[in-house]
Amino acid sequence: MASIITAGEAAARISYLSSDVVVSVQPSLAADSEFSKHLRTFAQKKVPSVVAKTAPEVLPVRENVDPLLSALGPARNGKAVSVTSPSHVLVQSVPHLYQLAQCPVVMHVSLQPSRYPDYSDITSIRQSGFVMLQSESLQEVQDMALAAHALARRSGKGVIHFFSSANMEADDPIPLEQLDLVRQLLDVGVAPASGDSTAPDGGLYAEDGRTPSTTLPHNQNSATGVTHPTEIGNGAAQKGPEAGSVTASSAESSRRESSDDSGRVSSLATSVESIETRPITSDGIYNLVSQIWDAIRTSTGRSYDAFTYSGPADAENALFIFGSDPVMFAQAIDRANSSDLYAKAGILTTRLYRPWLGSKAAATLPRTVKRISVLEQIRRKTTKWGPLLLDLLMSFKTAAGTTPVIIGYKLGYIEPATIQQALRGIFQNLLSEAPIQNLEIGRPDGPTTRAPEPPLMRPELENAYLKILDQLFGDRLYIANQLQSSHAGISSRLSASPEYGFGSLIARSQRRQDFISKVQAAIKSHPFTTDAPRNWLSKWALQADDSKKANCLAPEVVSRLSVDGSPLANELLSARSMLLKESQWLIGSNSWAYDLGNSGVHHVIASGANVNMLIIESQPYSERAATDAVRRKKDIGLYAMNFGNAYVASVAVYSSYTQVLSAMIEADKFNGPSVVVAYLPYSREDDSPLTALQETKKAVDIGYWPLYRWDPNGGEHGEPNFKLDSERIRRELEEFLKRDNYMTQVMKRHPDLASNLSGSYGSEVRALQKRKAKDAYNELLEGLYGAPMTILFASDNGNAEGLAKRLGNRGKARGLKTMVMAMDDYPIEDLSTEENVIMITSTAGQGEFPQNGRAFWEAVKNSTDLELSGVNFSVFGLGDSHYWPRKEDKIYYNKPGKDLYARILALGGKSLVECGLGDDQDPDAFQTGYAEWEPKLWKVLGVDKVADLPEEPPPLTNEDIKAASNYLRGTIAEGLRDETTGAISASDQQLTKFHGTYMQDDRDLRDERKAQGLEPAYAFMIRCRLPGGVATPSQWIQMDDISTNLGNETMKLTTRQTFQFHGVVKGKLRPAMQAINRALMTTIAACGDVNRNVMCSSLPQHSKSHADVWAVAKKISDHLLPSTTAYHEIWLTDENDKKTQVAGDAVVDHEPLYGPTYLPRKFKISMAIPPYNDTDVYAHDIGLIAIKASDGRLDGFNILVGGGMGVTHNNKKTYPRTGSMMGFVPAGKAHIVCEKIMLVQRDHGDRKNRKHARLKYTVDDMGLDVFRSKVEDLWGEKFESPRLFHFDSNIDTFGWQRDEEGLNHFTMFIENGRVEDTASFPMKTGLREIAKVHKGEFRLTANQHLILSNVSDGDLPIIKELLAKYKLDNTNFSGLRLSSSACVAFPTCGLAMAESERYLPELITKLEEVVEESGLRQDSIVMRMTGCPNGCARPWLAEVAFVGKAYGAYNMYLGGGYHGQRLNKLYRSSIKEEEILSIMKPLLKQYALERNEGERFGDFCIRIGMIKPTTEGKTFHEDTAEVESDEEV
Ligand code: SF4
Repeated sequence: MASIITAGEAAARISYLSSDVVVSVQPSLAADSEFSKHLRTFAQKKVPSVVAKTAPEVLPVRENVDPLLSALGPARNGKAVSVTSPSHVLVQSVPHLYQLAQCPVVMHVSLQPSRYPDYSDITSIRQSGFVMLQSESLQEVQDMALAAHALARRSGKGVIHFFSSANMEADDPIPLEQLDLVRQLLDVGVAPASGDSTAPDGGLYAEDGRTPSTTLPHNQNSATGVTHPTEIGNGAAQKGPEAGSVTASSAESSRRESSDDSGRVSSLATSVESIETRPITSDGIYNLVSQIWDAIRTSTGRSYDAFTYSGPADAENALFIFGSDPVMFAQAIDRANSSDLYAKAGILTTRLYRPWLGSKAAATLPRTVKRISVLEQIRRKTTKWGPLLLDLLMSFKTAAGTTPVIIGYKLGYIEPATIQQALRGIFQNLLSEAPIQNLEIGRPDGPTTRAPEPPLMRPELENAYLKILDQLFGDRLYIANQLQSSHAGISSRLSASPEYGFGSLIARSQRRQDFISKVQAAIKSHPFTTDAPRNWLSKWALQADDSKKANCLAPEVVSRLSVDGSPLANELLSARSMLLKESQWLIGSNSWAYDLGNSGVHHVIASGANVNMLIIESQPYSERAATDAVRRKKDIGLYAMNFGNAYVASVAVYSSYTQVLSAMIEADKFNGPSVVVAYLPYSREDDSPLTALQETKKAVDIGYWPLYRWDPNGGEHGEPNFKLDSERIRRELEEFLKRDNYMTQVMKRHPDLASNLSGSYGSEVRALQKRKAKDAYNELLEGLYGAPMTILFASDNGNAEGLAKRLGNRGKARGLKTMVMAMDDYPIEDLSTEENVIMITSTAGQGEFPQNGRAFWEAVKNSTDLELSGVNFSVFGLGDSHYWPRKEDKIYYNKPGKDLYARILALGGKSLVECGLGDDQDPDAFQTGYAEWEPKLWKVLGVDKVADLPEEPPPLTNEDIKAASNYLRGTIAEGLRDETTGAISASDQQLTKFHGTYMQDDRDLRDERKAQGLEPAYAFMIRCRLPGGVATPSQWIQMDDISTNLGNETMKLTTRQTFQFHGVVKGKLRPAMQAINRALMTTIAACGDVNRNVMCSSLPQHSKSHADVWAVAKKISDHLLPSTTAYHEIWLTDENDKKTQVAGDAVVDHEPLYGPTYLPRKFKISMAIPPYNDTDVYAHDIGLIAIKASDGRLDGFNILVGGGMGVTHNNKKTYPRTGSMMGFVPAGKAHIVCEKIMLVQRDHGDRKNRKHARLKYTVDDMGLDVFRSKVEDLWGEKFESPRLFHFDSNIDTFGWQRDEEGLNHFTMFIENGRVEDTASFPMKTGLREIAKVHKGEFRLTANQHLILSNVSDGDLPIIKELLAKYKLDNTNFSGLRLSSSACVAFPTCGLAMAESERYLPELITKLEEVVEESGLRQDSIVMRMTGCPNGCARPWLAEVAFVGKAYGAYNMYLGGGYHGQRLNKLYRSSIKEEEILSIMKPLLKQYALERNEGERFGDFCIRIGMIKPTTEGKTFHEDTAEVESDEEV
């Protein structure tokens, strides 16, 4: 049988079972308390609590962030709250204790330090109003924990349950708590034998592992605060006679009878906030707890009372022990000889410490007792007499009979070996004629070997900000309260406090001021040997407060003083550090933002001193944080702004690195207090940066954490005081700005932000919108006849939505009043009033609801009062039965549709037609199932025989959009002017691709924005056209500017060798396009159904060949450019629109190559120079393999056609393909041949089915020979036989290389092409600095890295110095990492199903240990990852690849050819990290051990039989390693 071995576990279990919310106070979020590990285990298993309907919320809170504040909010909201905590938190939390004591909160407190606890943590708060129970053994911890919760529920009072767990370590294990007893004592009723299985919807979600639980209502009316005494026991009334005394009047009477503290349970509950006192007395508490103990005794045989006496019934002497080890005393007394002074002494301990029931203490002791020694284990005694001594004295004073002699002792640490000696000492004094009070027994400092206080550690994540400070201020940075530095024996808790840091800074400033005065005096008196020191010191003294100038002069001063030799010179030299003007900082955590730390901040700001504070807020943005008003009571930024004399900035390193830099520099310069509040959200200290990034983005975007800078003196320099660096702000900030009349200024400067600024965060917009949408529909429907039919859809990619809308139209045509809405736009409260509801949903991820149906489903699933008996309904689901091929995953097939149908049925809905299931695997995909289902619906609604139905318009296709676009104009220009939305229309979204830009939305923010009633965070991706990936240094700087000023501060170097910008909002789109144009680049035709960027090997070693081939790349690119003038009209007109040519239909364009509908699909060309296949020449519609002539110059090209990557998961009609050889063409004709190939594709490509429209399908459908002859017909010439060539690899060669002309080239590693600044790696800044001095080229490689090309020997030193300075010269990575590549995917790519660029580096890190162990560090293994099967990083040519299937799940492919010549093949589908690692780790080891000489990883996988080789695209889906199961589960 399971058993419990620690007190922490015993208390944690009861706490969890008895609560709605458990606040787990921990040393840090990464370090467990004795309770937290157990709480986490329960929470992970989602064990439901006895009182909550679901698993309670476990809230880990760090010790130093005012942890008890977290209990207040939920407690006031009527939640059953418990806290697990070490005892040292109590005293610092006194202000909250007074408030918590008036709520039924239970705190389980472990006394600290564990080996020798200090009970003053408990006695110091004895008057806080809490009831206090003590446990002395492991079994008691379980029983008292339960008693504490039962008592809190019944009395409405807070209960502290304390114990010394170290003392119980030797106790025998105890059995688990009896669940029936827990239920009984918590008054949730004992479940009948059939128990929870009677839950109304039991079994519906069995697949999810959810077990519904039932709880009965509390019998305590928390709304009124009135408490009713409760009957307990097995149905038999055990109501105590005093139970009725729980009234105001009896409280009065009992207060007179009880000891001094007895009435304070209620009367002392006075605090800063008005508190509702509960009418309950000490006796009332006693009666309730006695009833609870009675029930425990009845059930377990263990009995308890307020005090425990052990010893002879006729004892004359007794010990009253309030310390950690009464058992040791009892055992020593038991072993005593009759001659020992302490033989036959009794021992009294307290179990109910507060309220103090003196009369009970007196009654518990035998009447024969004449002398009592009170032993109090209290280290910090603030009064002469110990609190227990006073309690006991009062007790006997008020009790009847003679009062015994009561002598107090301070109980120190006693080793077991010295217990007799200690007892002798106690009794010698006690039995003497004039006993002395307050003697110390034992060692007051505790055991000699004590566990050291764990040092406060700064969480690793927080170092991000410290690194930036370090970068900015270097040697002159001084952090006053730096953790881990020595502070003259002061504890780290104290030295990390704002008060301490502030004091030390003031002292430091004062010392420097004294130094300056000394220097000034020295200048006047001139006691130096030489003149030089005086002159330099004068210069320095004038600039002493200017950090830049003073620090520049300091070394000069030092050198003059050093040679002077006079005593004063030496004295000044000994304090030379004072010559530097420091940047002084105080670093604080979010604990400073809460009540208890706030005073320190107040001191700093109020002092007006020139001190900089960096306060790191780590509370993650979440629904809870947003609503927990108590925790967010103090906003330090606002607080400081209200003072009016402080510089204030609100920053977030994971949102804007540049803004952090600006804020820190401005704070440093500001002459007065500066407060930089910095956001760095994390739940646990070991959270990944990705989590922090996602949380930050949400918080900034939604306005929860606005980015701004406030300089109260801004006006003096002609600058605005307030600069908003993000788009939305919190309501409080808005109010402040309004009040100070700055809002108007901000609005004037940013008219475009006005609507955002006034749209307050956290409002009820969403509900309002739903209501409006519904009402508008109703209005529309009024006056129509026929039965109503409400159609609700949940759709991610538009299929379900399209189907719903079509169903709506067809219903209307049949005379029904139809209304079509997204599920999440529908007000759920109306559902029960509907007559006919049809729901259509597709399936997302692992059987999840699509985004716009999730809230609806959650509401339907969790509702307990939705009554749908009057509703007729049906559901149609769209899914793919083979998407999750493994047997155990079959449940995901159409899961949302099936769940929804079952749930509505369970809620009483009447099924019109059985749930319909559409399957992508059917001949007509989901239409097959739908075609059966829809007629049944019309039949049951009686509208199946309607005659003369109108014809339905055919759906709009991409071809229609192109044809109607007037050469790619569409309504783009109008859409850009529409300021009411950040989006453009759906058809314009297709057209802007041709202009090199995609509309996207930030997927990290989708849910959050939806919840706030905002449209998605739309922004645009812009892709440049850069033939061969060659840019000049000035172009690099211009690109860098664009990304910083108009994008999201990062650049992506893509797999097609070009620059890509993300996060460009609509309003900045034209400026960005114009800036790109000014850089002599363009974006036209970088995307869309046209020829895109032409790629070319980067080839650093052979500049001449590179130049020859690059020239052809440029020629092809220019030759195949579309001719439309729409691009220039829309994007490149000047500021005043003077050159605008947009004139409706007046401009008639002509596309000689493309025609009005352009190509059927995208078209890609790539060129490789053997032996380097770094551009993956087999993966493109046209691949050109450069062939050299005998003189080493370019001769011509072998031409490949029909390569391509994109596929659709599970659609076997789609496949990747490597290019087929057409033959050789001379270099001068290459552009013409490319044109002709493109034209054959233009005329023969499939324009009906976009999934079958790429050239690869045209070639396969037509046959290579026929295709070749068509090209030759158009061209009028023939391909020659292909020339010999040879490829070695498709990766980059890192480091310095020298070409045949003596120029140098450095290939640097840019992981996945992302150029950005981070605190630890300011790569973007570094590259910009290099671009300022570099005279050669920047070459972007097709593997997303970067080459600094054409560096002359003379320029080498400076370039090398800069590379080293910014750590850009580091290429010392594993071969696996150097050969890896990932596409963008989340958060910007709309097609992404899983993470890619943000995840692949993490996955590689997890594999690198095995790589190192196996000796594979230097071995190149090509590993690629993409977020979807569109395949932007060309995954199907990698030796090992992962392609996103759902969030966190990937298809794994093995067996690709090392130099990109062979496709890989599916090895496993939909596997997650754990499985990936469990496959990859042993495989890598095996490869290291068993490979043949020079054998590549992909070839090895094939040789050992793990995977079959893919011989051509058409066989890609054959012989896969994983056998699909067709069985439905
Ligand atoms: S492969 Fe898919 S997820 Fe990755 S960037 Fe391309 S389209 Fe997006």
